[in-house]
Amino acid sequence: MSSLRIDRLVKHYPIRTGFFGTRSLHAVDDVSFDLAPGETLGLVGESGSGKSTVGKCVTMLEPPTSGHVMLGDVDLTTLSYNQLRPLRKKVQIVFQDPNDSLNPRKTAGETVLEPFVLNGVATGAEAQRLTAELFEQVGLKPEHMARFPHQLSGGQQQRVGIARALASNPDFIVLDEPTSALDVSVQAKLIQLLKRLQADRNLGYLFISHDLSVVGYLSDRVAVMYLGQIVEIGSTRQVFERPRHPYTMALMSAVPSANPLERRERIHLAGEIPSPIDPPNHCRLVSRCPFATDECRSRPISLDVVEPGHRVACIRSVRGEIPVPEFLFASSVVHAPRLDAASIGLDLE
Ligand code: ADP
Ligand code: MG
Repeated sequence: MSSLRIDRLVKHYPIRTGFFGTRSLHAVDDVSFDLAPGETLGLVGESGSGKSTVGKCVTMLEPPTSGHVMLGDVDLTTLSYNQLRPLRKKVQIVFQDPNDSLNPRKTAGETVLEPFVLNGVATGAEAQRLTAELFEQVGLKPEHMARFPHQLSGGQQQRVGIARALASNPDFIVLDEPTSALDVSVQAKLIQLLKRLQADRNLGYLFISHDLSVVGYLSDRVAVMYLGQIVEIGSTRQVFERPRHPYTMALMSAVPSANPLERRERIHLAGEIPSPIDPPNHCRLVSRCPFATDECRSRPISLDVVEPGHRVACIRSVRGEIPVPEFLFASSVVHAPRLDAASIGLDLE
């Protein structure tokens, strides 16, 4: 099975300003990562940091401005529409809002069956049988097949979305906040389902969420985005327990501790997230970072290795000039309350 490799991905949206001017909104700027079969990479960051745009580019729903989306040796960005079709099914996406992916005029059964026909896998009774099998695998009952989306609960709709993605027999699934709109108990069941499906099918997940407890529970590695860039990437333990980027430190300091007696020192970020329109070349956190110096405003950023598998885009941290906090992180916390992000100046919703 091939790996998925994202190389220097850029997505800019042109923005009209006045009569003549256009400026560029940098939704994603120079993002690289890879994802192995069976692995989960968590993608976290404040609202507007570019997570969904990465997900849409990875699945080629949005053409990248530049950069490469490599599935094994094949660069998906160089393919024509017809060449892309058979490969598209290998990388599926499930959205936060099932209304984005479920057709309100199709029954759940039709929605899940369709990819079997479109991909030439099966038709007629055989497609029906495969659909029924998927319904069972995602914990839906046979009678749900005849229902329309509005006749299903949020959790059931999301199971239909997952079943539809699985019908293409993908190697990778982008999960863009798949449980964020659901009650905590429903959310926990879906997370267990995703874990089981991954183990059964060796699926690679790009798991996008602002819920750090869930990301920590599901992910092997975590990438942290800020204003269109990855500022830190490493194993879940490295990023959650010994974060090296001041932005990650602020995020992680807000995750509820597994031990209620242990009080975490909160790391606060001042000010608002700056505009993504024509952002500077240097570190984008400088306006909010308590550790920023003039040097941070004069050097282009790069994601540098601080220990094996762990990279950070902070010149001061790489030189060991910023104290590294030690957070205890229990990866079994799924029911933890949502983090109290507003109190440390983050906008995660
Ligand atoms: P996230 O998922 O992390 O909340 P998004 O990827 O949705 O962030 O958005 C990143 C940035 O790109 C935001 O500033 C958003 O307003 C902008 N953006 C997203 N889609 C478009 C679009 N189609 N046109 C213009 N700007 C967009
Ligand atoms: Mg999003």
